[in-house]
Amino acid sequence: MSVGIEGLFTSALGLVPPWEVDKVELDTARRRIDFEVRCSAKALSCPHCGAADQRIHDRPRRSWRHLDFFQFEAWLHADVPRVACAGCAKTSQVGVPWAREGSGFTALFEALALALCRELPVKQAAALLRCADKQLWRRIEHYVEQARALDDMSTVKIVGIDDTSLHKGQSYITVVHDLDAKRLLFGVEGRDHQTVVDFAADLKAHGGDPEAVQHVCQDMSAAYAKGVGIALPNAAISYDRFHVVAMAIDAMATVRQAEMRDEPQAVAKAPGTTERKTIKGLMWGMRKNPGGWSIKQTNAMHWLQHSSLKSARAWRLKMALREVYARAAASNNPQAARDDLNAWLSWARRCRLEPFKKLAKTITERAEAVVRGMIDNRSNAFVEAMNGLLQQAKRAARGFRTASNFIAIAYLRMSKLKHLPAHPFAPAMAK
Ligand SMILES: [Zn+2]
Repeated sequence: MSVGIEGLFTSALGLVPPWEVDKVELDTARRRIDFEVRCSAKALSCPHCGAADQRIHDRPRRSWRHLDFFQFEAWLHADVPRVACAGCAKTSQVGVPWAREGSGFTALFEALALALCRELPVKQAAALLRCADKQLWRRIEHYVEQARALDDMSTVKIVGIDDTSLHKGQSYITVVHDLDAKRLLFGVEGRDHQTVVDFAADLKAHGGDPEAVQHVCQDMSAAYAKGVGIALPNAAISYDRFHVVAMAIDAMATVRQAEMRDEPQAVAKAPGTTERKTIKGLMWGMRKNPGGWSIKQTNAMHWLQHSSLKSARAWRLKMALREVYARAAASNNPQAARDDLNAWLSWARRCRLEPFKKLAKTITERAEAVVRGMIDNRSNAFVEAMNGLLQQAKRAARGFRTASNFIAIAYLRMSKLKHLPAHPFAPAMAK
């Protein structure tokens, strides 16, 4: 190495006196670059009480992983002074400007790691950075906690409450979104009424006012309604399209499954053809909107509609409910929406399909809040979009799926937190 390389790296690493690069070692075989950083000061201020010019007691050695230089894995090493203070009689280690206390990564490395974890599954980010995913999870939790402590929820007025399961059918997590700011406010394990009470406390702790929440959009869970009654006293509940239509899709699936079970040979002849089909292969066509059908699904659904199967009736009921929602969104007229819904309910009650009769009862009992959700179109698309993001967060947490991991990555990606470290390359990428 020529003289001057150290000075060059001192400025490349952004170091200022008393810190400077003392030595640079490049190992081309191991594709590794090691920087020996030196603190040239003979005396330093006490990190504890601030007293100036205190004696350096010793210099324990420490190392930090830094951002790669091209393909070279970069490490910083330094003997970090501990100051023996005559003023407060404490011996304390001085902070280094490139890393937070206790971390074996430099701040820039951590910032890049966080930026990657917003875009990639954590396992994949760890592989790219050549570190353990456990190390990344620790940092995600640290920075998210720090950023959330400074998060401001004072303007929250309209929230969406939803549950999601981490593993199929078990360990539920409740998530609360701000439907105006379109961001995740709160996540917690469980889906009982206490989760809503916990949210209200968290809202308060972040400068929000539970009494200022005017509107809650949720599924038909009685537990959430109870929690809202206790903790968000001024909020009107509405049930959004996403959840209501999902219930109709479930009812339809139940009808189809029962028909398959009871009449496994359920076949019919499509008019004008000799084609015989079973209802087994119809599941996806029945779930999708006609616009999304493949040619095969279009043919199968055409056949279904001309059959006398219960599954066909169930499908027509589901589609009719979708249309009730579409007309309500277009008319924006609560009374018309209510009349329209009532017509659907009366059909569902008389349809001789048990799952739809049950659904009709559920909706009738909550009709006012269902109609509110029909007109309040603001929440509907958003709830679906948030659900998509939650699925991505789940994939990001794959391989390390505890509830707290999942909640931390969801906060990182969905909370629009303002106090996270900036992307290390942000200035270079601007423009
Ligand atoms: Zn001191």
